[in-house]
Amino acid sequence: MPLREILLLGNPQLRVKSTEVKRFNDEYEANLKDLKDTLLDLQKTRKIGRAIAAPQIGWMRNVLFFNSPDRSFVMVNPKILSKSKETIEVWDSCFCFNIAFFIKIERFKEIKVKYLDIKGITKIETFNDDLSELIQHEIDHLNGILATDHLKNSKQIVMRQEWERRFK
Ligand SMILES: [Zn+2]
Repeated sequence: MPLREILLLGNPQLRVKSTEVKRFNDEYEANLKDLKDTLLDLQKTRKIGRAIAAPQIGWMRNVLFFNSPDRSFVMVNPKILSKSKETIEVWDSCFCFNIAFFIKIERFKEIKVKYLDIKGITKIETFNDDLSELIQHEIDHLNGILATDHLKNSKQIVMRQEWERRFK
């Protein structure tokens, strides 16, 4: 299956809300395969990144794919049911920024999420810390929101080389 191009910051399509998956049909399966292949290729070539959201490849559906050494999974139609009062500060970047720079932003420490898994089974799960902030980043994509929208302090932005040197 073809690798898909990542839409880049400035592309108006990244600001469009994606829609719910209603049918797990052939079109869904083909796009999901592309989404997975695209993330795996990016991880191999860029040596960074833990997840991808369907709108990043121009597939305007509520689908996320996560792939880290300890867990690989798909989330369909995710909804955040609750957020902790406690927040965490994280350095965030995005394939839509070509991972050229990182920004320090605030995310909820814990979230409870309802979603469909790859088999279409409803799950309700609580996520903390790394996975929590990652899922918030990816769900934002489904709502046309990018990490840069969360930047409150314009001095909290560093190029990738400086981030690797100082904060990694
Ligand atoms: Zn992103």
